[in-house]
Amino acid sequence: MSNDSTPAVVKGEELYRGKAKTVFHCDDPSRLILHFRNDTSAFDGEKIEQLNRKGEINNRINAFVMQKLSAAGVNTHFDRLLSAEESLVKKLDMLPVECVVRNIAAGSLCKRLGVEEGLELETPLFEFFLKNDELHDPMINDHHIRLFGWGTQQQIDQMQQITFAVNDVLKKLFADIGILLVDYKLEFGDFEGELVLGDEFTPDGCRLWDAETRKKLDKDRFRRDLGDVVEAYEEVALRLGVPLD
Ligand code: ADP
Ligand code: UDP
Repeated sequence: MSNDSTPAVVKGEELYRGKAKTVFHCDDPSRLILHFRNDTSAFDGEKIEQLNRKGEINNRINAFVMQKLSAAGVNTHFDRLLSAEESLVKKLDMLPVECVVRNIAAGSLCKRLGVEEGLELETPLFEFFLKNDELHDPMINDHHIRLFGWGTQQQIDQMQQITFAVNDVLKKLFADIGILLVDYKLEFGDFEGELVLGDEFTPDGCRLWDAETRKKLDKDRFRRDLGDVVEAYEEVALRLGVPLD
């Protein structure tokens, strides 16, 4: 996918193999290659399946969303698409923290507090979780982050501010195509002293419901064995206008 103005990238050693993506070094030390695999996992890796074409669909949705966010002024790690399943990104020093914003109650919020799924929240709700599968990603707050050195006060403030700013952009982006942005998870990292949005925004890490029917168009289809997982992701891509092969 390189042309005359974009030099080819030479793929290097594998740096990390996660549950859904593999991260590779490349010949530019400031960059990494993210390979979006078909592996789909839930319940901290207890349930894993290969879903044909999911890697490509997620790579392309992520590229599209990251570019929309960059255009809206969000500092993201996304550089460019390299192939159907691979993207070039800035190499970040990741914070071991997950930032969740919720517009509608679902998932762990309902389990934890007994709130009914589907309850529209008057204002968006922000939550921090520790990124640690063995501990099942426990919920934490800004005191834990400062105390255990997972981030500075400035990074905490910026993560909250950027995650809410992303909500404003994406709630509208999805509303315009008849989809409710229920909740989502973002990860951040440091790049040369600046806090940058990393990882991905795809149906693997958010909840998307059809605004009319409330049909789930995200990984809950996989978690709950609802079927047609990739078809739902593809529908999100098509409604967004993301070109697929
Ligand atoms: P997990 O680690 O939860 O199994 P993935 O399979 O998505 O998740 O693995 C991708 C890994 O790459 C994640 O741990 C994520 O924090 C990390 N990552 C994402 N973007 C970047 C980046 N720009 N620089 C460095 N690491 C990144
Ligand atoms: N999420 C994620 N990775 C995680 C935990 C959560 O991408 O390790 C996403 C999840 O898909 C949802 C949002 O963050 O869109 C909130 O998740 P929740 O806390 O409800 O946990 P869940 O019950 O989905 O595990």
